[in-house]
Amino acid sequence: MLLTITTNPSIDVVYQTNFFKLGQTNREVSHYQVIGGKGINAGRVASILTGNKENVAAMGFVGRDNSAGIIQDLQEYGVANKMIQVPGKTRFCYTIIDGKGQKTELNEVGQQISTEEANQLLEQISSLTNLNGVSINGSLAPNLPGNFYSQVIRAVREKNPRAKIVLDTSGAALKSVLMGKDLPDYIKPNNEELSELLATDVVEEKNAVLSALMNPIFKNIPNVLVSMGAHGGVAKVGIETPRYYKIKISSQLAVNPEGSGDAMIGGILSALAYGKSNIDVIRAAMAAGMANAVEAKTGFVQKSTFNRFLRSDKDIHV
Ligand code: ADP
Repeated sequence: MLLTITTNPSIDVVYQTNFFKLGQTNREVSHYQVIGGKGINAGRVASILTGNKENVAAMGFVGRDNSAGIIQDLQEYGVANKMIQVPGKTRFCYTIIDGKGQKTELNEVGQQISTEEANQLLEQISSLTNLNGVSINGSLAPNLPGNFYSQVIRAVREKNPRAKIVLDTSGAALKSVLMGKDLPDYIKPNNEELSELLATDVVEEKNAVLSALMNPIFKNIPNVLVSMGAHGGVAKVGIETPRYYKIKISSQLAVNPEGSGDAMIGGILSALAYGKSNIDVIRAAMAAGMANAVEAKTGFVQKSTFNRFLRSDKDIHV
């Protein structure tokens, strides 16, 4: 079984405008709404790729007042809904895209999670015994302790010592885990998240990223995959004698690259479900990111597109 954990999902509203001026009344040309939790996206993609209904489950928190859309989305894609309903509403994140394509974002912080609700999630996680792959996705909901993701990792390992854990977060939540004893098997920072973690500007160039991956902070993480959009990525595999890989991919004309990072996590989970080797897991991550970028829908892939990229050494070269 595969599991995604999202403590702070969102409902994303994207407005298209001709002009956007601060301090003035702005009018939309159009808008649309998408379910925006990173783990919800990753679970959707993992479910599409494994094609096995309900072998993927989503845990975390949703605000009771407006959770219907998220729950409906999980059902539509065959993901088992194990989200805990908390009082209030799931947060909204707003993106305004003006006529020149310039983006402005305003993200609500999210619902406060009580100690009881946090413990309920940890108990729910430690009650599972048949996990192959688990992803921990996105930012920590307000009020959760800074080391909550370390607690989640411990809860997973309690009864699933062989489950592989993928951590897809950034900033203080990522740093806190990497400084602790309970480490994930995979992390997947993008260039910006890598720079933030190392508090230095890592230029988007493969040799620079490769040297950054030699930083001792990554020493005990078995798999570090840095995604670099259309430029592919760089990976470190192994602990005792780590190997470093530059990943080349064919650049695609992106229809909507939003959610490509989440799709990569879905790709990793699906490969873990099939017990794939490290390199094949990297290939699946890349293929899923690429397959998402060529779709209009955020956090969505077509399995046929994924398979086409996965099987072609011209499209993905590790
Ligand atoms: P994030 O969404 O986390 O910022 P990236 O922008 O690095 O992540 O994109 C994640 C992955 O999506 C890339 O590693 C790549 O596989 C794929 N991807 C994104 N944009 C493109 C593109 N234009 N062409 C091909 N692949 C892409």
